[in-house]
Amino acid sequence: MLEASNMFFSRAADHLELSDRLRTILITPRRVVRVEIVTESDDGELLHHLGYRVQHNTARGPMKGGLRFHPSMDEDHASSLASLMTWKTAVVDIPYGGAKGGINCDPSKLSESELHRITTTFVELIREVIGPTIDIPAPDVNTNAKVMAWIMDEYSKFYGFSPAVVTGKPVDLFGSLGREEATGRGVMYSLEEFLKGSGRKLADVSVAIQGFGNVGSNAARLIAEQGGRIVAVSDISGGIANETGIDISRLLQWVESNKVVAGFPGADAIDGAAVLTCKADVLIPAALEGAITVDNAQQVQAEVVVEAANGPVSPEAHDILTARGITVIPDILANAGGVTVSYFEWSQNIQQFRWELERVNLELERVMRRAYNDVATIARESNLDLRTAALVLAIKRVVRAATYRNNIRHLLPPALLQ
Ligand code: NAD
Repeated sequence: MLEASNMFFSRAADHLELSDRLRTILITPRRVVRVEIVTESDDGELLHHLGYRVQHNTARGPMKGGLRFHPSMDEDHASSLASLMTWKTAVVDIPYGGAKGGINCDPSKLSESELHRITTTFVELIREVIGPTIDIPAPDVNTNAKVMAWIMDEYSKFYGFSPAVVTGKPVDLFGSLGREEATGRGVMYSLEEFLKGSGRKLADVSVAIQGFGNVGSNAARLIAEQGGRIVAVSDISGGIANETGIDISRLLQWVESNKVVAGFPGADAIDGAAVLTCKADVLIPAALEGAITVDNAQQVQAEVVVEAANGPVSPEAHDILTARGITVIPDILANAGGVTVSYFEWSQNIQQFRWELERVNLELERVMRRAYNDVATIARESNLDLRTAALVLAIKRVVRAATYRNNIRHLLPPALLQ
């Protein structure tokens, strides 16, 4: 995965004519932490896991990024996702650097008390390198508001009351209104801005969504509320399709009681992978990385792919889609709504002040629409795809901040000063 994100980075670096030295500096994480987590299972066995926190860049502010609990979590994943966070926070112009981490565990095989012990032990082991002005974790795959509450509690035992150490907390425990749906809401705004280019609205398009967790389900609900027709959805259990439109509020109720989309009575069962290549105007991969590769990119029928997940399209697949005239709205733009409202949450915690939901959503909308148009302008003026344009914007912002801080602005190539 790291190879893929470095390859995308290189394309933007080529456009900016960055030196090899500057590329190395920008790609290399500032700090990589790996810890051994030894805990006890409910039946008295030893449990052994590895936890990671990769802190990529701090030029524009304290580092920010999610925690993923997944068997595939390793240093490569954390490093790749940490660099995406640096570029993402720069694209939406919020005052953070990038980090990412997690634990190589499978929460579906752990009890809540086991997960609690693993999480709090992890916090105890990394507590010296995180903090409200250092590095602020957030939810990602298989972590949620409850896990964030455990992190806040454990950290506060060592450093005193510290709600701003983590975002995505429950609203009852200093979380922000609107945070839970923020990534899906940002996905919706990005898609809306794209559609404006051809004079269309969400109500004019059909949409297929891979993944029905936090991001996928909220994107589906919000797009459907605006009249968008959700024709296919998948999750780990398989896919469902209904070309007249899936009733998303009924599907949400179904998933609430059955945990997965499979078996939903209001749609036909299809293969999970078929959702990626089904007939729909818009494809939203909202599960994990590597969903669209050389193996299925030729079969994608959508005219736009909105990367709600991080890294769902491989570099080769990106090229195939682009050559076929399919637009890819990149992860560092499309899914930046989550970290944007995390920033609002952190700001509220520091100010000890709560914003109304209307304010959160209004500010998020403003940030997302502006970021989309900043990126689209660079793409148009420099004849770049949206991903390369987003990275060009982000790299410029990060490098400029870094060189001011280190008093090395005179070393910058002219392309970075414009
Ligand atoms: P989640 O754990 O809430 O949901 C993940 C979903 O993906 C689940 O529905 C799961 O069943 C599904 N899934 C897993 N493997 C699948 C497969 N092979 N095929 C189809 N579906 C599959 O996670 P989330 O928070 O919604 O995150 C999803 C993606 O969005 C991740 O890439 C994450 O990094 C990214 N993201 C999340 C946030 C956030 O705020 N949560 C912010 C930005 C980006």
